[in-house]
Formats: sequence, C-alpha cells, structure tokens
Amino acid sequence: MENKLYIYNTLSREKELFIPLHPPFVGLYACGPTVYSDVHLGNLRTFTTFDLVYRYLTYLGYKVRYVRNITDAGHTTNDAGDEQDRISQRAQIEQLEPMEIVQKYTVGFHQVCEEFNLLPPSIEPTATGHIIEQIEMIERIIANGYAYVVNGSVYFDVKKYAEKYNYGKLSGRKLDELMAGTRELDGQDEKRFFADFAIWKAVPPEHIQRWRSPWGEGTPGWHLECSAMGTKYLGKQIDIHGGGMDLKFPHHECEIAQSVGSDGIEPVRYWMHANMLTVNGEKMSKSKGNSFLPMELIKGTHHLLDKGYSAMVVRFFMMQTHYSSTLDFSNEALQGSEKGFNRLCEAINLLNQFSEQNFQNSPDNEHDEEIKNRIESLSTNMNDDFNTPKMIAVLFDLASYVNKIKHENLVINRNTYINLQTSFNTFFTDVLGLKLESDNDNNVTSGLMELILEMRKDARDNKNWTVSDKIRDTLAALKIQVKDEKDGATWNKLR
Ligand code: AMP
Ligand code: ZN
Repeated sequence: MENKLYIYNTLSREKELFIPLHPPFVGLYACGPTVYSDVHLGNLRTFTTFDLVYRYLTYLGYKVRYVRNITDAGHTTNDAGDEQDRISQRAQIEQLEPMEIVQKYTVGFHQVCEEFNLLPPSIEPTATGHIIEQIEMIERIIANGYAYVVNGSVYFDVKKYAEKYNYGKLSGRKLDELMAGTRELDGQDEKRFFADFAIWKAVPPEHIQRWRSPWGEGTPGWHLECSAMGTKYLGKQIDIHGGGMDLKFPHHECEIAQSVGSDGIEPVRYWMHANMLTVNGEKMSKSKGNSFLPMELIKGTHHLLDKGYSAMVVRFFMMQTHYSSTLDFSNEALQGSEKGFNRLCEAINLLNQFSEQNFQNSPDNEHDEEIKNRIESLSTNMNDDFNTPKMIAVLFDLASYVNKIKHENLVINRNTYINLQTSFNTFFTDVLGLKLESDNDNNVTSGLMELILEMRKDARDNKNWTVSDKIRDTLAALKIQVKDEKDGATWNKLR
C-alpha cells in the first residue's frame, strides 16, 4: 500500500509520514468519556475528530482496531482522595447506584454517537472491567522502582523517573516551572515530590466505588486505565493515541511515564490532539456553565440558539475547521454551515438524478481534466494531516461543476461523471461521515408538519371546523403543540 498520509505528531511537534508498526494493521486509541453526566458538544468534537481519523485510515485500506474507553471508575478531583469521586457524587444527587449513573450516561453517550453518525469503536473497554490489568501494571511499576506505597496509596515517583527519562516531553512542561505553579494541595504530604501522582488511591469504607488490591481497598488513578487498556488491546506500542488538547497534561504525559515505567517502551508512535470547542473564545465546559448538549442543538432548545440544526449540519460545521484549530461556536457559523451542507446535498442529488446514459464515452476535454485534478486533491488534502476544511472547499468546487452540467450545459464524459459520483459518495459519506438530509427522519417530519399546518390553515380559512378540529386533536394526542404567530403557525414536540 502506497502511503502518503502525514500526521502532526504532538510529541515531535512536526508533521510526520504515517508508518504503522505492523501494516496493514493500525492501532488507534482515543480517550473516551467519563460517564457521570451527558457529553457536551465540546466532547463530541473530540470524538468526531477520532471518528474521522478512523474512517480515513479505513478508507486508505488499513485494518484499524479502534479502541475508545469508557471511564466508569470515579476519580477524585484531588489526590488526597478525601473528596467524593464524580460518579459517586452524581449517584448521591440522583439517588442512584454509581453503576446506574454509569449505565445511564453510557447509553446517552451511545445515542449521541449514533445521532451524529460516529462509527462504534472496535473495542469499548471500561475502567472497572480492567481493575486486574491496572493492578498488574502498578506492580510492574513498583518492581521497576518508579512507584512507592504510602498508607495504602501508590504514587508514581516522578523525580526518580525524571533522572532517566524526560517527564514533560509531550506537553513541553518543565518540572521546575510546574513546581512554581503548584499550590499547597491536599495529599501533598503523602507524596515525596510535588509532581508525583497517584496510581492507586486508598479510600475510606464509605467510598462506594472501591476495589481490593495488594495495598488495601482503593481505586485506580485516572491516568492508569488508558495505559492498561491500551496495552492490553493494542500492544505495548500503539500507532495513534489521541484525545482533546486538555488531556496532553497531565493525563497523556502520565500515561507515557506509566508505560515507560512499567514496560520500558515508548507507548505511542503518533500522538494526536484535537483542539477545543469554544463559546465566545472560552473553552466549552460543564463547570463554566457554557456547555450545550448535542440534543439541545438539534431541538433548538438552548437559549443561545435561534433554531435547531440537524446532527449532520453540526457534524459538517465541525468538519469545516481543522481539528487542530479551536472552533468557536456561534449561530451565524452554524447558519453558514447549514447553507453549505445543503449545497453539497443538492449536488449529490443532481448527480444521482443523472445517469450514465446522459454522458458520452468521449476523450477528456479541459473540464474533465480540471475535475480529475480536483478529485485527486480530495485525498491530497486529507493526507495532509486530515485537512477537512480544504477537502470540503474542493467538494464545493466540484459542486459548482455539477451545477454547470445541469444548468449551463457543461459537457463532461462518462468516466468523469462516474468518478464524480463515486468521489462524492466516498468523501462526503464514508470519510466525512455525512448523510444526505433527505435520508433524515427529522426532515421527513418537518416536511409532513408543514403540509399538515397548511391543510389546517386551509380548513380554518374555509371554516371547515370538522377537519381543523381533527387536526388539532390528533396533534395534541401526539403531544405536538402548535402556536399561531404573525407569520404563520409554528410547532414543537412537548416532552
Ligand atoms: P471527559 O469526559 O471530561 O474525560 O472528556 C472527554 C473528551 O472530551 C476528552 O478527550 C476531552 O479532551 C474532550 N473535551 C472536553 N472539553 C472539550 C472542548 N471544549 N472541546 C473539545 N474537546 C473537549
Ligand atoms: Zn485516557
């Protein structure tokens, strides 16, 4: 397989030619969600980025094993372990078992993935299902002298590690700079060095999520699960490992230290980081209160939204920005994406309306040449570190040709037509993961509701109360609320 894919590797800070360890197999690992609440649109952006990577590697012919974990073991936000972990906290608020919380938000996450057309990963391992592997990894780290036990907790010995290895090489952080930025944190007294981190944390009996270990009852440290599960399913060296930019430090930096500390092997060949989704320039996050739920966007129920947008428009909106740039969320940007998305759908519909018989087997003319070159540049752009915005710009160009074929009698030959149709299918559908809007149930519902409201208006204009009452009662039974406004009637589905 000829390979021209270049990936920006966070570790080397360069675009590198992608060479998998064991072609045609590729191991891809993306950090998954912590299932203590609904995923927000920012989380979704990161997961969509790795869905794109999975799709494009598959398109290139690789046999990809894509692992995306579920973080279902609660982790305390401080190393002291005296705070409740997030999952247990949520369980108390909702008066549920922690595993009910985990189940509820895992199901919700999967629904969002399906709605936004994210392919299921090949393996979706859970942290709680891999406690033994995590304990074994800790034992190897202790045996190698890179961790120590204090009061039933195990800490990674960063100082010792840094004598031999470069702790901070991924994130570019220097230990002395980190030191300057450290506050007096709880749990510091147990640590030998401020940068040490817990790989096993002793917890008191009232802590609901806890497991037995050689060091007593406790929970594994957050960074450990990805190291343990990545190694188990993708081997000691993973081809590509990624997550959001905010995971570079400490999560991924600690993952490297844990793997090197336990197995002496650099765990990842290409590190990829998706940049943040922002709102008015600020990172979208639950704690800042500026987060949108993906479903709120579809239904248009969030107060910052003028209206709802289909999942495919939102996906397209994300793809119009390179994954390594921040993506600022706004109504205007979404409206622009909706228009652009519809233009591409129209082009595909037109291409599907034509048939091969409409085109001759003639030699290439200048338009055939131009179109061929553009089609080639679809992969050229994707090979340049998954440059979706540039690839989409080429799709727009190609859509203009399709319009000219339809409306301005532009002549192309049969091969070019077939090539155009196949390329749209491949890049729009398989690679970008988009679906034609006409395939979408929402669209069918909107069309039907428009028709029903028109019939209702006609019935009222004609004083046909039997029909208008029937429409009103049926819609009410379906929990569809109709509001009469100046410009006509609008509707929404009550929950
Ligand atoms: P979490 O459930 O908090 O572990 O986050 C799941 C994924 O979403 C991680 O890869 C995070 O880096 C990513 N993430 C969190 N906030 C954002 C954001 N505002 N934009 C993009 N990705 C994000
Ligand atoms: Zn992770």
